[in-house]
Amino acid sequence: MDCYGVLSKYFGYKHFKNGQEPLVEAILSGRDALGVMPTGGGKSICYQVPALMLPGLTIVISPLISLMKDQVMQLCENGIPAAYLNSSLSVEQSRKVYRNLVADKYKLLYVAPERLEMPEFIETCMNIDISLVAVDEAHCISEWGNDFRPGYLRISDFLNVLPKRPVVAAFTATATEKVRRDIKEKLQLQKPHSVVTGFDRPNLYFKVEVPKNKKRTLLEMISERKDKCGIIYCQSRKNVEKICELLQDNGFDATRYHAGLTPEERQENQDDFIYDRKTVMVATNAFGMGINKSNVGYVIHYNMPTSIESYYQEAGRAGRDGSDAECILLYSPSDIILAKLLIESGENADVDTRKQDYIRLEKMIAYCKSTKCLRGILLDYFGQVNIGNCGNCGNCHTVFEGRDITVEAQKILSCIKRIENKLGYNVGLVLVVRTLMGSREKRVLELGLDTLSTYGIMSDYGKSDIGDIITYLIDNAYINKDEKFGGLSLMAEADKVLFGRETVMMVSRKVTKAPKAKKSVSELSPDEILYDRLRKLRSGIAKEQGVPAFMIFSNTTLTDMAKKKPTTLDGFLDVSGVGNVKASRYGERFVKVIRAYMSEKY
Ligand code: ADP
Ligand code: ZN
Repeated sequence: MDCYGVLSKYFGYKHFKNGQEPLVEAILSGRDALGVMPTGGGKSICYQVPALMLPGLTIVISPLISLMKDQVMQLCENGIPAAYLNSSLSVEQSRKVYRNLVADKYKLLYVAPERLEMPEFIETCMNIDISLVAVDEAHCISEWGNDFRPGYLRISDFLNVLPKRPVVAAFTATATEKVRRDIKEKLQLQKPHSVVTGFDRPNLYFKVEVPKNKKRTLLEMISERKDKCGIIYCQSRKNVEKICELLQDNGFDATRYHAGLTPEERQENQDDFIYDRKTVMVATNAFGMGINKSNVGYVIHYNMPTSIESYYQEAGRAGRDGSDAECILLYSPSDIILAKLLIESGENADVDTRKQDYIRLEKMIAYCKSTKCLRGILLDYFGQVNIGNCGNCGNCHTVFEGRDITVEAQKILSCIKRIENKLGYNVGLVLVVRTLMGSREKRVLELGLDTLSTYGIMSDYGKSDIGDIITYLIDNAYINKDEKFGGLSLMAEADKVLFGRETVMMVSRKVTKAPKAKKSVSELSPDEILYDRLRKLRSGIAKEQGVPAFMIFSNTTLTDMAKKKPTTLDGFLDVSGVGNVKASRYGERFVKVIRAYMSEKY
C-alpha cells in the first residue's frame, strides 16, 4: 500500500495537507526530516503515515504526558497499535508495554525525553528494530525558546548508542531561524529535508476589540457563542479566578486553570474541558501546551499578552481541526501596565533580555492599536510575505474614520492642568467633564472650579462626547489615569498638543460587514438539524467509550458527514476523516441517524 492508501485507510483523508507529502516521502526514502508547520498544520500525520509503512518501530519523543495519552488514544481509535511509556503508568502497566515492545506489537511508541536515559529502556531498544525516531515539539531542545527541556539535549546520545541509526524527523511550530538551526545541530540531523510551510491559519478570524466594559463585552460574546467551546486567557491568576466566577454566576459552564491550583484540580478541570463537560476554560498561559483539543471554537484574550509569539501560540489553539474559529483580543490601555509588571517580575533578570521583552511588548501593543490587516501584522512578524489585506479579520471588516480633535484635546488638557494647579491634586473624569461643560453641580462649586478659565469652554458638547475624547486621550498616552483613584494628569506627550506641535486624530471603528464565513464552509451549508443529531450521537458514543468527543470524529468530519449524508457504509467511508476502523466501529450508528433523517425529510 502506498502512502495515499495508508492515509485513507487509517485516517480517512483523501489528500495530504500542505507540506505533509514531501516530509512523508523523505522519511520513507530514509532521509532525516525537519517539518516546521503551524499548530493544526497536521504534523502528526507526517510521522504516523511512515510509521505504518516502515518495517520497525517508530519512537515519538513528546514533551508532555497529557499529549502522549491523547495521541495514543487517537491512534488506537483508528486501529493503529500504539502505546506510551511514562511515569503515569503503574509498574504492571509499563511491564506490559515492555513485553509488547519486545514482541513487536506496536507501530508507535510515545515517550518523554527523560525515558531515553533509563537503562531498561535503552537495553530494550538495543534489541528491537527501530525505523524512525520522531521528535515532536522539537523547539524544546533550544534554549532560545520559552519551552526549553534539558532532556531533549540527550536525544542524540540515545541515537548514538543504538546499533543502527534510525531515520530522525523533527517537528515544531516555532518559526524563528535561530531555533531551527539549533534543532538541526543539537539533534545532529543528517542532511535533513526541511519543509517550512506558511504560518497562516486561514480558518482563524482575528479581531481586536477595545471594549468600554470588558466584563460585559465578554459575557455578551460568550452567550453569542454558547454552542461552541472556548478558552479565555487572562494575564494573572487573580483575573482567572474573577472571570471564572463571573461566568459561573452568569450560568456558563466555566472552569479554570492556573499554576496556583493543586495538580489534582488542574487535571480535573482540564479533563472537564477536554471531555466537553465544561464549555469554557478560563486560564493563564499555563494552560494549553500539550492540549490536543481540536474543537476549540474561540480563544478570547481578556488581557493583552506580552508578545506576539505568545499571542499567536495561544490564539492558535482555536480551530485546530480546520473549522472556522475566532481569536479575539479584548484590549485596554491598562493591559500595558499589567504587561510591564509581568516583565519586571519575570525571571528574565538581565538587562538585555528585558530590553528584548520590551521590544516584543511594543509590537504586541502596536497590533492592538493598529488599523491595518491583523493577519498581515502577524505574518509580517514571522517574516512571511503576505498581501496585507486578508479580507477575513476584524480590521479588514472595519472602516476606520479619522476625526481631528486637536482643539478639543487642547481644551481638555489645559483644563486638567488648571485644576491640578488650583487644587494641588488630580480629580477624576466626571469632575473634569463637569468643569468643561460649565456644570453648577455642588462639588464643582465647592472646589471653586467655576473660577477657572476653562470652566464651560465645552458647554456645547455632550457629556459622553467629552468622555469619549478623554478616554481616547488616555488610551493614547496623553493623559494618565491613576489606577487606584482615577485622578487624571498630563503625560509627557500632552505638551506637544498643548503647544500646537501635534494634531490629534481620533480614529473610530465602524464595523460595516459581518464577519464573512469562509467560502468553503458557506458552500457546504450543512444541514444544521442533521449536524446537531450527529453531534449528539457522537457525544453519546464518546461517553460510552470514555474518550473526548473530538477523538471519535472531529467537527470537520461531522460537517462533511452532514453535507454528504451517506446512507451506506461505502458512502460513509467517503467522509473526510473516516478511516476503515472507525467506519466499521461507528458507521452503522451514524448511517442509521442519517437514514432516519432523510426519510423524515423526503
Ligand atoms: P499539529 O500537530 O500540527 O498541530 P495535528 O497533527 O494535530 O496538527 O493535526 C491537526 C488537525 O488536522 C487534526 O484534526 C488532523 O486530524 C487534521 N489533519 C491532519 N492531516 C490531515 C489531512 N491530510 N487532511 C485532513 N485533515 C488532516
Ligand atoms: Zn485582514
